[in-house]
Amino acid sequence: MSFLNDNASFQQKLLRWYQSSKRDLPWRNSNDPYKIWLSEIILQQTRVAQGLPYYQEFTNKFPTIHDLAAASEEEVLRTWQGLGYYSRARNLHKCARIVSNVLNGQFPEKYDALLKLPGIGPYTAAAIASFAFGQPSAVVDGNVFRVLARIFGINKDIASASGQKYFRKIANDLIDPDNPGEYNQAIMEFGALCCTPANPHCPECIFNDTCQARINKVQGKLPVKSKKTRVRKRFLNYAVFKTDKGLYMKPRTEKDIWQGLYDFPVVETAAEMEEEEGLNDIYALFNVQSPGIPESVSPVYIHQLSHQKLSARFYLINFGMFEPVFKDASIRLFSHEEIHDLPKPVLISRYLNDYIF
Ligand code: SF4
Repeated sequence: MSFLNDNASFQQKLLRWYQSSKRDLPWRNSNDPYKIWLSEIILQQTRVAQGLPYYQEFTNKFPTIHDLAAASEEEVLRTWQGLGYYSRARNLHKCARIVSNVLNGQFPEKYDALLKLPGIGPYTAAAIASFAFGQPSAVVDGNVFRVLARIFGINKDIASASGQKYFRKIANDLIDPDNPGEYNQAIMEFGALCCTPANPHCPECIFNDTCQARINKVQGKLPVKSKKTRVRKRFLNYAVFKTDKGLYMKPRTEKDIWQGLYDFPVVETAAEMEEEEGLNDIYALFNVQSPGIPESVSPVYIHQLSHQKLSARFYLINFGMFEPVFKDASIRLFSHEEIHDLPKPVLISRYLNDYIF
């Protein structure tokens, strides 16, 4: 399949645009696979402005893959704190350990071998293979889908497996085999800066004379993405058990987005509860005698994730000098200093900053 009679002039146009328009981002000045991998994992589902300080902190704290592999998972999660999607951080750590301990610190060069590492999907494998090792593997991210769909007027669904395969084939046909890394950077940058999701810069675009979306005025309709993500609503009633020495917290062992982070004992309910109901459930579930009226009950905190909307209320229950013992031995008392150092979901940090510290 070839969409163009002249792939070479498409590539040259794009590369010329890239040379004059690209942003200066720190990972672009390196072909170190460790730094490229780190930046790509951090930037998944994250804007560059948000990801940049994390990239800098990771590379300062863990200058080599061996430093990252030697860190504890807790330390890695704490450095990641605030970026969300914590499974990415856990996979980052697992991958670092494999590369450091099993592969002698060397990332594989080939796309297929990279794909076998934890947390490395088709996009990241193609990025590392092409940016670090000059392999002709096309990256296909949201930017590339959009650019190709618009320029060539493709209305295949990018949420379907067959649609993705179709786009991947075109992207691999178009890649510049002599300069695959720079070509990949260029097409993604073009999507990020010129062919943007809303209000693309068509009047000054280098492809505007042939772009099918512009000619047919369907920029807003391409790419086609059928699946709508269903947002699940969750209602969390947190028990913040307090004594004169600190607060009770526990590590999350559930296999979910917050695995390995610390939060408070929680009662999850199907709908939002009245304050009193929430409190009664907490006493019943954690089998504690009420010490009296709670010291405070927070307003509802809303925390929006991509697939979930969390509504959380925090009940601060002060036991003073008395130290309750819980059946669940993972619920332990931590001093304020210790809590500062624990990896925590952003929702918990927001509450702590508002009410405790
Ligand atoms: S003309 Fe507009 S829609 Fe087409 S590639 Fe350029 S910026 Fe994108």
